[in-house]
Amino acid sequence: MATGTSLSAVFPLGSRLNERGRLEVGGCDTIELAREFGTPAYVMAEDDLRARARAFVAAAGPAGHPQVSVAFASKALPCTAVLRVFAEEGLWCDVASAGELGLALNAGFTTERIVLHGNAKSEAELRMALRHGVGLIVVDNFDEIDRLTRLTSDGESAEGDPQPVLVRATPDVRGQTHEKISTGQADSKFGFAMDEVGIAIERIEAIAGLECKGVHTHIGSQLLELEPFRKAVVELSKLGEFPVWDLGGGLGVAYTEDQEPPCIEDYMAAVIDAAAEHLGVHSQLLIEPGRALVANAGVTLYSVESVKRNVSTWVAVDGGMSDNLRPMLYGAVYEAHVADRFGGATSCVLAGKHCESGDVIVRAALLDDPRPGDVIVTPATGAYGFAMASNYNGVGRPPVIFCKDGQARVVVRRESFEDLTARDVP
Ligand code: PLP
Repeated sequence: MATGTSLSAVFPLGSRLNERGRLEVGGCDTIELAREFGTPAYVMAEDDLRARARAFVAAAGPAGHPQVSVAFASKALPCTAVLRVFAEEGLWCDVASAGELGLALNAGFTTERIVLHGNAKSEAELRMALRHGVGLIVVDNFDEIDRLTRLTSDGESAEGDPQPVLVRATPDVRGQTHEKISTGQADSKFGFAMDEVGIAIERIEAIAGLECKGVHTHIGSQLLELEPFRKAVVELSKLGEFPVWDLGGGLGVAYTEDQEPPCIEDYMAAVIDAAAEHLGVHSQLLIEPGRALVANAGVTLYSVESVKRNVSTWVAVDGGMSDNLRPMLYGAVYEAHVADRFGGATSCVLAGKHCESGDVIVRAALLDDPRPGDVIVTPATGAYGFAMASNYNGVGRPPVIFCKDGQARVVVRRESFEDLTARDVP
């Protein structure tokens, strides 16, 4: 995929600085967007979402595996308009709760293309998945097998067909990433230990209402090297032969200009080659990218409220941990720019508006003489920002604006004061 933009690859495809030196995303001037829709705002380039989806699908072809399906890990950006785009592009959808399952169905994913995950699925969630007959339920633990036994013997399933399931394995393979998003190690809250996978499969095979199709793994997220993905496949191959293998997501993205993740094509080739070599080419292969589909398709716009100088220069904006929790949750690093004055050299702390000293979006942002009223852009915020947004300090969550060919449209409106009290019971 041509990932080049006239800016760095952290920005959505096609982004540029226009003649007035202002950032344009999807052909829309971000200063105008801030004026029209207010800040903070999530801005997504629709063409970028489609281009990345197509790149994943196209990369499956030349890699020479006959049956590869790409499922969007909806936790990364559970926004109906985005899900619709990916449903239209022919992707599958990975969901991890009844809510995400409802969103996926509502957005147009057919049930056969939905994969349900979760290490603590409730009975209600499993019942919903069984009734709809989702494509695959990924079984995480023995208690879940007990729960599925009860539910299927009570007749919960779509038209009485056995429910296809996978068993989630923890292959004890670690990639280099933050421990809070590493999942493949032996001591993980997700999945079965390798020596328990066979027992889990045997137990599932004894249940008339279930059909074990294969094995799933997801070793972690924001992985910038391909070797751990290959290693995981080698480990999984020791479990035997299965009709379906789901290798999870985890391909990392560039949050800052200096990061160089593998491109989609190299990642797909590595995973598919490893699968062909170690798992065979006659099984169906699933992969579940989340951030690699959406992170760089989005930017967040903020307005500067105050600039304060003490030991540091503190640039405080009108959002923060309520719209992007990742820096506070696991030290994720972003870059920031004044949307109409790129190329700054003043090291600033880009601080949020929330009542926590830890509410810092970027610790060392190089900004050009920031002033109150400036629009600040943080690129690569398309993944896990909207998803983890909150109403901390009573702020309304930001809107999502889709931009394409110079046209902007609101696909999620800003939360209002009324929304903040909508659940109150008088
Ligand atoms: N699949 C599973 C089972 C996951 O748990 C996750 C992330 O938590 C993903 C896919 C997506 O990961 P990423 O966004 O890093 O691609």
